[in-house]
Amino acid sequence: MVWRNYWDALLELVFPGSHLCYFCWRKIGEQKVRGVCDSCCAKILQLGRARSVGPLDKVVSIVPYEGIYREMIAELKYSGRAELVKPLGYLIARKIKAAGLARKSSVLIPVPLHPVREAERGFNQSSLLAREIAGQLGLCCEEAILKRVHYNANQARLGKRERICNIKGAFAVERTQSDKIAGKSVILIDDIITTGATLTACAEALQSCKAGSIIAFTWAAGVPSEKQVLQSKIIFE
Ligand SMILES: [Zn+2]
Repeated sequence: MVWRNYWDALLELVFPGSHLCYFCWRKIGEQKVRGVCDSCCAKILQLGRARSVGPLDKVVSIVPYEGIYREMIAELKYSGRAELVKPLGYLIARKIKAAGLARKSSVLIPVPLHPVREAERGFNQSSLLAREIAGQLGLCCEEAILKRVHYNANQARLGKRERICNIKGAFAVERTQSDKIAGKSVILIDDIITTGATLTACAEALQSCKAGSIIAFTWAAGVPSEKQVLQSKIIFE
């Protein structure tokens, strides 16, 4: 990915206005605003899969958590490459639109980080994605509705059962905002799903405020580790 930045910069010097597709590195013209060429776009949109998770109506993930799709998440989260939300947001938005959910009545909500974690990282990648998606679909990104109220240990090293204990009750709906989701179609946005514990906890909080339907869209879907599978006996559906 680092070499790609140099290559992109060099191309810009030689051919001003040219850009590369973030996935195949081919030069792109008018698709530069979204950062993904038509060919990659068509290929990636075939990879999506839906699964049922806890109280959610379904969770749709665009790509498997592997290869370049995984690298892009790491670059976004840990190297702060915020420009990557363009292609990722574009592809998620396409899936939301295809599912018939790009309606004015839909409420788009990013999975929140605890304020302490967000301050450490400097941003919430799910909020960046949700804002990009909202902009592309003409929806509102509602970031004040769902709050992370507990500061949990990092979920990444925990198994499914540990995650459920760790995350249970971690989210709450801001009391003054609850009428915004009652009876509404809620779309949750997150970068990745592995065990589904985080999205389940979010959905439980939203359900307690009578959200109509809850569907989550994530960029990637990870396969739980061997340890997680043994602990939970729940294999990636
Ligand atoms: Zn491409």
